[in-house]
Amino acid sequence: MTLNAHPELPEFDYFRPASLVEASRFLAEHAGEARPLLGGTDIFVRMRDGFYHDQYLVDVKNLDGTGDLHFDPGNGLTVGAAVNMNRVMTSPEVRLHFPLLAEACRSVASYQLRTRATIVGNICNASPAGDTIGACMALGGVLKVFGVGGFREEPLTTFFLGLEKPF
Ligand SMILES: Cc1cc2nc3c(=O)[nH]c(=O)nc-3n(C[C@H](O)[C@H](O)[C@H](O)COP(=O)(O)OP(=O)(O)OC[C@H]3O[C@@H](n4cnc5c(N)ncnc54)[C@H](O)[C@@H]3O)c2cc1C
Repeated sequence: MTLNAHPELPEFDYFRPASLVEASRFLAEHAGEARPLLGGTDIFVRMRDGFYHDQYLVDVKNLDGTGDLHFDPGNGLTVGAAVNMNRVMTSPEVRLHFPLLAEACRSVASYQLRTRATIVGNICNASPAGDTIGACMALGGVLKVFGVGGFREEPLTTFFLGLEKPF
């Protein structure tokens, strides 16, 4: 007897846009069938388990600014969407000025997972159990969101709309 508790990953198309404009345009044109991809640690589990059915995964890891991690005493900490949690928690500036954030990252899963997992993915997944979300909120986090209308800033306190419906 063969038991397969987890069906295989469904087929999908991988798209790697060259710019934020191209990424947001593609996502808007394929609304409902395309999804931004960062580390994939939530996405691939949810695709495998039949919760996500997207035709396109849009890799937003290599776009302008997404790899940035820098601290400015006036403007605070900037964490690009593609910066993985190990990089955040080992940054000397994060450890010095934002130990709560370093600790929150350290509490996520394992070293291996944190080489892929990002804070922005944790936030966008919007699980109430997301370990970095509380720290980011307590630290007054603001998201810089790019869409077809350009950039806007969204405080974390008003970002979350609710839970996704179970399939
Ligand atoms: C074995 C295992 C253990 C885990 N343990 C923990 C844990 O201890 N604590 C915890 O909090 N989480 C845990 N997770 C969940 C997951 O690792 C985290 O939520 C992680 O931070 C997700 O980041 P990611 O970069 O992999 O996101 P992805 O999987 O790439 O994306 C997550 C979601 O965000 C969306 N998204 C990504 N980028 C954008 C964007 N630029 N704009 C809009 N939407 C976007 C995606 O479409 C997707 O819906 C675990 C997962 C696994 C598989």
